[in-house]
Amino acid sequence: MRMNFLGSCELVVSACGMIDDASESAASVFAMSVGALKGQLLLNRLDTSSREQLRALWREWSQPSTPLRAGSEHALTALRADGSLVPSLAVFRLCGEDGRLSLRLQPLADQPSLNDSQLPESFHDALTGLPNRRGARELIEASLQMGTPVGHTVSLVCIDLDNFRSINEGYGHDVAEEVLRCVGTRLRQRGQGLGRVCRSGGDEFLVIRRSDRSEDEMRRLVPQLMRAIQEPIEVCGETLIVTASVGVATHDCAGGSFDALMQRAGHAMSRAKRLGRNTWYFAARDPIPCLQHQAIKTRLYRALEQGRLALHYQPIVDLRSGELRAFEALMRWNDEQLGEVSPARFIPVAEESGLMGALGSWTIEQACRQSAAWRSAYGASRPIAVNISAVQLQRGEFEEDLRRILDAHAIAPGMLQLEVTESALIHDSAHLACMSQRLRELGVGVAIDDFGTGYSNLLYLKHFHPAKIKIDRSFVQTILSKDEDRAIVRAVIDMAHAIGARVVAEGVESGAVGRMLRDLGCDEAQGYHFARPGPAEALEAWLVRADP
Ligand code: C2E
Ligand code: MG
Ligand code: MG
Repeated sequence: MRMNFLGSCELVVSACGMIDDASESAASVFAMSVGALKGQLLLNRLDTSSREQLRALWREWSQPSTPLRAGSEHALTALRADGSLVPSLAVFRLCGEDGRLSLRLQPLADQPSLNDSQLPESFHDALTGLPNRRGARELIEASLQMGTPVGHTVSLVCIDLDNFRSINEGYGHDVAEEVLRCVGTRLRQRGQGLGRVCRSGGDEFLVIRRSDRSEDEMRRLVPQLMRAIQEPIEVCGETLIVTASVGVATHDCAGGSFDALMQRAGHAMSRAKRLGRNTWYFAARDPIPCLQHQAIKTRLYRALEQGRLALHYQPIVDLRSGELRAFEALMRWNDEQLGEVSPARFIPVAEESGLMGALGSWTIEQACRQSAAWRSAYGASRPIAVNISAVQLQRGEFEEDLRRILDAHAIAPGMLQLEVTESALIHDSAHLACMSQRLRELGVGVAIDDFGTGYSNLLYLKHFHPAKIKIDRSFVQTILSKDEDRAIVRAVIDMAHAIGARVVAEGVESGAVGRMLRDLGCDEAQGYHFARPGPAEALEAWLVRADP
């Protein structure tokens, strides 16, 4: 058979399983050129289970009682040149006398049903004409099943209109429907370059994007979508402004399910709501499985009630004198069923389940109690730095709680520091700038934690006036081996000093790193090299050593 007789996505395979010929489109399924594909064993271009399956089919077809029927269809997964997988439908027929086979390979995600204009009616929303939740499920599952080159991802943007109920109640059903139609149209128009737009129900829209581009791109595109929604909507002589809270979850293409992605995007969206609405939030890359999330939530609630949480403390030292400057309080939870659960794991769950306010107050209370205990035992204490979640800062009662606890334990405000992560700063910079000023007036210093891992700009920093900037350990730990990281650390130190903040390096694990930091002008450090976090009793030697 000659090339120009080959149909779209067609391969010709010899009786011994070698690819004799291929159309351009078939070669592109394997991300290879026709020349490179020819001469290869078909089995070597399939994933392991498809290989087994094809071997079995070949055995079957070699039996006179079960010859290959023309048009016989089988699901096979093609292995692309870069190692990624493409689930496909293979249609076989015999071609010629010599036992050669022809097979047409159609990637499942290219099946016509996945074009949203061709989704069945029941997969569409009647009001906006967009695919509905069922349609979205179909589109996402096809995207997740289809393999793509390494680095490709499927992102789900979950958009929920803020206070939509007030439009329904204040202006009536017809106006509310018109608003939904208008938002649907805007998203479809402005979101075109971004992905497929669906209305999953009520006032919730989804945008599905399959892309090789990074999360950074989504971080630029999502605010554009939000601005499109926010433009005034003229309806029945009224001008309405609608805002939305947006959650984004991203999944590597291989594996995963609609429900898992939807759950993460939904959680991220709820978090955006709690961050004050009219904002967006990206779900963490490492998802907590649903069941575990539920178990953590239930057990954490009980642990808090029954006093089974603890604070450990890690010394923060002055890099020049080696003296103790402060302690950082870190939450510890050892659950009888779940074992030791890291705060990096349970804090996000607490934030999502409304537990963070209570958990956060407990931490401040506990730290102040410890400070008072050290003061009475050693005549002096050291400031304790407490980590604060952005969710806590949003709570109206935060400042009042703080003052009450400081008073109750007679703790001078200067003995308490609050650590807020850089990402909290981005989500609500205006609110945090005001809050930071009030805390400064009160005398409580605020530090920016994990600096370098978020995307804050210098303007945020200027308005925030942090007392300290803590450089994330991902930069610190490589300053000896990576010139760029050393340059970043040096720049952060200079910048922090320029705005009057002290600099603390996190995660110092060796003396050499500590010395390098000191030479770069860094003020303080914490890390395993100096001491691991430990229970208060284990740190008493530090207090005895410290000057009052
Ligand atoms: P963080 O505030 O950046 O805390 C520093 C983390 O680095 C701690 O992890 C600490 O144990 C660890 N660490 C300290 N020195 C070293 C070192 O030399 N090498 C390495 N590899 N790690 C070091 P931990 O205790 O697992 O806490 C993780 C994060 O959880 C904290 O990061 C903080 O963001 C959060 N967290 C902990 N306690 C609380 C809390 O009470 N409230 C809130 N909102 N968040 C908390
Ligand atoms: Mg911290
Ligand atoms: Mg940190």
